[in-house]
Amino acid sequence: MASHEFRTPLAAILSSVSLISKYTTEEQQPKRDKHISRIKSSVQNLTIILNDFLSLDKLEAGKVICLPEPFHLQKMCELVIDDISSLLKTNQKIAFDNGTEGLNVTWDRNLSRNILTNLLSNAIKYSDEGGTVHFSTAVSGKDIVVTVKDEGIGIPEEEQSHMFERFFRAKNATNLQGTGLGLNITKKHVELMGGTIAFSSVANEGSTFIVTLPQNCDQL
Ligand code: ADP
Repeated sequence: MASHEFRTPLAAILSSVSLISKYTTEEQQPKRDKHISRIKSSVQNLTIILNDFLSLDKLEAGKVICLPEPFHLQKMCELVIDDISSLLKTNQKIAFDNGTEGLNVTWDRNLSRNILTNLLSNAIKYSDEGGTVHFSTAVSGKDIVVTVKDEGIGIPEEEQSHMFERFFRAKNATNLQGTGLGLNITKKHVELMGGTIAFSSVANEGSTFIVTLPQNCDQL
């Protein structure tokens, strides 16, 4: 599975590079731009897949621990949005509603970055061109609630109970690239930070993922 997952984006990069080398005139700039963004999104996909495989190994070996440090939550969210913007399809956008103005959280940077990246990249991947992914953060008592909502393909009701199982992929997702590892890892990362993850979804209408994390993970 790993070799298949790596080969697909690598093949896309190779074909875009070959095509770019054939576009030599100035009028062909839009074509070059199209292939450059395809290369960017393939590299970003490769990074996510590679991270998943590495995280899985580390989790299995019991080597992943939560190392909390204080940081500015809004900045972290903006960083992740910036990172994954190369995955956005035509006219697709992320609407970010920051409800934690100026707030510092004490979280593990890598774990929380992986969690956000996974949920946002899934929301992008499993929805169509032109859609909006709603990403919000809010304070709820001593917790922070992170919500990622999309208007995409959704998850068929009869398959929802398997969502966090390793290698699980819903029937309506098999024509899109994926490993079925991301959510399994995300759930473990959320739990390492003392939080919970939940979702609701209606097939063909969209999905909402809600992660609740203590504002200060060092006080667990
Ligand atoms: P991957 O995306 O690599 O298949 P994940 O573990 O992240 O793996 O997700 C597991 C499965 O859950 C996906 O294959 C898909 O069927 C479903 N899924 C996850 N997020 C969404 C979403 N936002 N919308 C629809 N289906 C989703």
